[in-house]
Amino acid sequence: MSKVIDKFDIDCNKPFRDKPKECPHCQCPDIHEVEILGAYNGALMWECDYCHKFLLRFTKRTTEKHLQKAKSLLIDVSNWEELWEQLPN
Ligand SMILES: [Zn+2]
Repeated sequence: MSKVIDKFDIDCNKPFRDKPKECPHCQCPDIHEVEILGAYNGALMWECDYCHKFLLRFTKRTTEKHLQKAKSLLIDVSNWEELWEQLPN
């Protein structure tokens, strides 16, 4: 079974409990919160505005667990990208 988390571009396995001051990949300071409706109330991940890599807030295992909750609310998981792009910053 494929994991929902694999749909996100995550290179760094280190969780950042608080929003990182800069991206560990490109050192860009512009990081925004990624909130996924139905998965977690608040930031579930971070995303770099520059390189668009996702950064973990929780361990991959915990993040996947939250994502699985939202999965049941959605008919087609391939629409996820649209879902988070529609969320206001
Ligand atoms: Zn970056």
